[in-house]
Amino acid sequence: MSSVLSSTKLSSTAVDFIDEPVLEALLQRNASSEEVRDVIAKSLSKEPLSVGETATLLAADDPELVEQIFHAARQLKRDVYGNRIVLFAPLYLGNECTNDCQYCAFRRSNRAVVRRTLDEGEIEAQVRALLARGHKRLILVFGEHPTYDAEYIAQCVRAVYSVREANAEIRRVNVNAAPMDHEGFAAIKAAGIGTYQIFQETYHHATYAKVHPKTTRKGDYLWRLDALSRAFEAGQDDVGLGALFGLYDWRFEVLGLVSHALHLQKHYGVGPHTISFPRLRPAAGVALDETYRVSDADFKRLVAILRLAVPYTGLILTAREPAEVRREVLAFGVSQIDAGSRIELGAYTEPGDAQCLEREQFELGDIRPLDDVMRELASDGYIPSFCTACYRLGRTGEQFMEFAIPGFIQNFCTPNALSTLMEYIVDYASKETYDVCLRRIQAELDKMPDGPRKQALVDRLRRIRETDQRDLFI
Ligand code: SAM
Ligand code: SF4
Repeated sequence: MSSVLSSTKLSSTAVDFIDEPVLEALLQRNASSEEVRDVIAKSLSKEPLSVGETATLLAADDPELVEQIFHAARQLKRDVYGNRIVLFAPLYLGNECTNDCQYCAFRRSNRAVVRRTLDEGEIEAQVRALLARGHKRLILVFGEHPTYDAEYIAQCVRAVYSVREANAEIRRVNVNAAPMDHEGFAAIKAAGIGTYQIFQETYHHATYAKVHPKTTRKGDYLWRLDALSRAFEAGQDDVGLGALFGLYDWRFEVLGLVSHALHLQKHYGVGPHTISFPRLRPAAGVALDETYRVSDADFKRLVAILRLAVPYTGLILTAREPAEVRREVLAFGVSQIDAGSRIELGAYTEPGDAQCLEREQFELGDIRPLDDVMRELASDGYIPSFCTACYRLGRTGEQFMEFAIPGFIQNFCTPNALSTLMEYIVDYASKETYDVCLRRIQAELDKMPDGPRKQALVDRLRRIRETDQRDLFI
């Protein structure tokens, strides 16, 4: 049986590609307005940026240039992704942990946190509660512990997929769990996971060592940095990167993320599917060091710059951020958010939405129910989507049609997103949300050219509304 803690074999491309002196030197450089504009123009032609070009954008402090970066990020997001926002929910399955990450309430030295691992019946109850709210996509989250080895995680994934509630099921299960060996990654891939996600937390070596004790598994920087390469070699071609912003200089972390994305692209022919950029949040028993706190203004910049640097990578904005920040930052290029999230173990079956810091990993900033978020997205002109068509038709990794085929978004993604939105409002929405979202669907239909594609979509939407046919996608 594979174990997250047993093998230490690295990938065939394992190398510490974070060349700190080079990155720090890039961050010292000034950039002229002309250089910044040239880089913006390159990204608007949808070409991924180099690390040096990304540093040029990071050097732009002048408010007028920053505004140009924002403007370009909004435009690129519209051009590449359209106005869809994909929704998911986190499902925490176990918070036992052998690591001692300074910023996290689950760290082993925190005796105050309530430890719990959900059993199969409890997992099923959580999934039923999530399905009853309309969720279709989950990310399963685990601490790092011998209990949570790859076989165990694979079993959890299968358990989630097997739950049926009325005519609904979870259609995509992603995983955020400790780095595994090749065998472990192959096992969770075989269980049908979508994205395997892991955050480097900080790419800065001294900071990494400071917040992750050397005596713990997570203290091994290279083991973690190399995780996604091992995942690729084990056949997992859909991976997510991330950094925890607030541990070190945000500009350095952006260069770390871009370096990591380029490393994967170079060696495995595919970049990361997603990048996450959580900001540090208060957590039980954690004294937050404010030295590298990322202000809201800088947070907006980092999201916009990431959008321009990696045009074909989805950006995930989590409910750690308050609702107002989420609303503003969405326009800069975010493609996925979680909503209606609860991160205390077992909380989806509990009434109310009050947070309990002794039971969660950190405090969330946006605890609005899914229905409220759906309504706000639709009234702000977005199409909230639960679409999973590409993964289920095998259109992933190198094959990602979304970007490879001209017109794919217009012809496939938007119609599929609208079908999932119609399912949501017919089956789960409040009256108010139903009305707002129905108007959004109509507005999107009005934009589409008449013809057989539109007619087929209108027919699918009618079937969803009038019958119990579900999961209709192309
Ligand atoms: N235990 C696994 C790991 O560390 O990779 C699974 C993920 S952990 C439960 C999910 C992520 O939460 C971490 O990678 C970290 O970036 C983030 N996190 C931990 N403490 C946080 C805090 N105080 N504020 C915001 N995010 C935090
Ligand atoms: Fe454990 Fe992950 Fe928290 Fe670190 S961040 S203490 S590994 S749960």
